[in-house]
Amino acid sequence: MIRGSCLCGAVTYTATGPLRPVIACHCSQCRKSSGHHVAATSVRRDAIQIQGEVTWYTSSSAAKRGFCGTCGAQLFFDGQGENLSIFAGSLDEAPELAIGGHIFTDDKGDYYQIDPDAPQSGGYDPEMTTMVASTR
Ligand SMILES: [Zn+2]
Ligand SMILES: [Zn+2]
Repeated sequence: MIRGSCLCGAVTYTATGPLRPVIACHCSQCRKSSGHHVAATSVRRDAIQIQGEVTWYTSSSAAKRGFCGTCGAQLFFDGQGENLSIFAGSLDEAPELAIGGHIFTDDKGDYYQIDPDAPQSGGYDPEMTTMVASTR
């Protein structure tokens, strides 16, 4: 089981089951909303229990972003499919997780570099973002 929370602790969650490797998304929506790029794992929706009130912002016709209305911490990305993405920085600890790739690198900020050895996609990559076997 993994645990996580927002900065102020008003929203907490626990999740079970396999976790997707962390994928970094460099799209403009992730950059504008997070202040940098997003790094998120994901779990099946039925494998996460959320306590506290999450505020949802509909960022596109296909996705909404969940954050704490008190401290503003971004926690979740709810797109299409059966998984809910969890922003990796909100995890209390997840020593078995690692960044597995980068998507939307065509939209990345100019002020940082991406590890050239890491898997990358210029846009959306269903192979990388689909749930894959846990690293556990
Ligand atoms: Zn909070
Ligand atoms: Zn993105």
